[in-house]
Amino acid sequence: MPEILIAVFVVLFGLAFGSFLNVCISRLPRHESLVHPRSRCLRCGAMIRALDNIPILSWIVLRARCRHCHQPIAWRYPAVEFAMAALFLLCYLRFALTIAGIGCAVLCFLLLGLAVMDTETMRLPDAFTLPGIVLGILYAAFVPADDWVDRLAHAGESILWAILAALFLLLIRWLFFAIRHKEGLGMGDVKLFAMIAAWLGPAPAVLTLLLGALAAAVYGILAVALSRGRRPFLSTRLPFGSFLCAAALYTIFAGDPILAWYLHFYGISR
Ligand SMILES: [Zn+2]
Repeated sequence: MPEILIAVFVVLFGLAFGSFLNVCISRLPRHESLVHPRSRCLRCGAMIRALDNIPILSWIVLRARCRHCHQPIAWRYPAVEFAMAALFLLCYLRFALTIAGIGCAVLCFLLLGLAVMDTETMRLPDAFTLPGIVLGILYAAFVPADDWVDRLAHAGESILWAILAALFLLLIRWLFFAIRHKEGLGMGDVKLFAMIAAWLGPAPAVLTLLLGALAAAVYGILAVALSRGRRPFLSTRLPFGSFLCAAALYTIFAGDPILAWYLHFYGISR
């Protein structure tokens, strides 16, 4: 099959998974079932027909309004579908149709979903982070290896990095609590970082944490500066998990030059 045709299929797959991700984002933070009831308009409760549920296209055709009550449909729906398709395409361009490519797509699905859920609800549901950790460990065992001893070793390492990552964030969480007497990092952030470390390994996980913290700090300073004496322009409550997810995506697709530069000081080449 010509590559361009495969790429088109990858994008269509991305749109479909983006549509499913929208359901997860709307329902998981509220502990609702993913399969029941069928998709409804959040405002009037009318059932959404299959034809009105086509990724991006329906939103444009319906001019971002519900067919029944004509109330606006949030732009988050087409945005998530578009982002998921773009990330799937990036995975394909980077890794082709390999185990690494499929693993990358799974991780992108989890990261995009968690980023949006944390921004919308300040929650990082266990339904994404805990299976995410397990999938990361399984992925490590599936990466091509010489024999099953090698596979077990890879899975073991992945478990180790997840535990170390969780312990490190727990330490920061405890320190923050000891100094500021309020919760700075949620347990969701701890599980999310363990998931990232299980998938990516130690060096990319550290880069993710540094970039995420840097982005959150810049955002925090901007939020305070822009809201001086006025109504807050940006929310000062930080969804730190969203910054971690964005930093992990950056690290996956663009982090190699930084990692190579950093690791060469230790004589390690990637
Ligand atoms: Zn409606």
